[in-house]
Amino acid sequence: MAQVKNRSVAHSYAVRLMEHLVVPTFVIDPKRRVVIWNQACERLTGVAASEVLGTTGHWRAFYRQRRYCLADLVALDRPDKLAALYAEGGPSDAGVGLSAENWCVMPKLGNQLYLAIDAGSIHDQAGRLIAVVETLRDMTDQKRAELALQALASKDGLTGLANRRSFDAALQAEWARAHRTQRPLALLFVDVDHFKLFNDRHGHQNGDECLRAVAAIVSKHVGRPADLAARYGGEEFAIIMPETDRAAACDVAERIRKAVIGQRITHGASGAGSVLTLSIGVAADVPGGDSSAEWLLSQADQALYAAKALGRNRTTSADAMLADLARLGGRKPRARFLARAARK
Ligand code: GH3
Ligand code: MG
Ligand code: MG
Repeated sequence: MAQVKNRSVAHSYAVRLMEHLVVPTFVIDPKRRVVIWNQACERLTGVAASEVLGTTGHWRAFYRQRRYCLADLVALDRPDKLAALYAEGGPSDAGVGLSAENWCVMPKLGNQLYLAIDAGSIHDQAGRLIAVVETLRDMTDQKRAELALQALASKDGLTGLANRRSFDAALQAEWARAHRTQRPLALLFVDVDHFKLFNDRHGHQNGDECLRAVAAIVSKHVGRPADLAARYGGEEFAIIMPETDRAAACDVAERIRKAVIGQRITHGASGAGSVLTLSIGVAADVPGGDSSAEWLLSQADQALYAAKALGRNRTTSADAMLADLARLGGRKPRARFLARAARK
């Protein structure tokens, strides 16, 4: 009898402890009804214990549509559903239960929170499940900081366009996708004409300003969600356009080139024209056989070289280039990319 009493004293002590724990915590029974919803959980979710105790409606505190919470997956022994329901998830570090992270809409509070969640099961001596405890941590600030840093790390500081690193990653990904879907992938190389002379004449700071203006025009003309405009380096920009054939890519290139002329940015250095101009190389292809993204790069690079050799301020595509160069007397494209790759 004394043992039973002690046990119930210990039980209510444990429940009180959990209710006052600073870590947001709730507990469900094997039928997935909420048996504990602590004060920290009330504060985190804005949902009072009285609203959820005895119900299976704990999901309402986090999501708008009915779905499983992590504790439910543990109670149901369905870790296979983790990937579909959470941004990240897996077995918990402790080896019992599950850990996950997710953006939650928090319907009662009306503000999105990024929560780190742990759920672990409790069994009786016979091994039967008696409860699942779910604890929550608000990681919103850390997640936002992480996302901001990621965005920063993928951007070029001067122009705000994607940087070379994200360009390289996107090109590989889009090439692989185009290979799978057998749709054309287009690549544009945009290079400011006589930019060294521009700097010499107008100063480096005005040169920077000019690059920002060109970048703004480039992004204005590259609008589809899957397109990517990047600063490839120095005064060169590169644009990836999935599902785009050569004719459509040349069209975009011409619009960019004409828009920059339309800005009438004074150049005027001797050897250059009166306004700033661009040369653009275009390549587009449906990936086949063992061709690689590097091949497309070298094609666009050679087309750009041809545009320069033919007198600058023009768009040249990889196919048109050979014919035009042959007309000029067979000068060989410099294959700048291949030279660079060989140097790496
Ligand atoms: P071309 O018409 O053949 O392309 O001639 P170019 O002078 O534009 O080409 P070149 O490669 O000889 O020179 C590129 C110049 O771009 C040299 C470099 O000082 C300048 N440049 C590169 N990055 C920046 C930058 O971030 N800001 C400024 N202001 N200039 C830059
Ligand atoms: Mg250049
Ligand atoms: Mg240049």
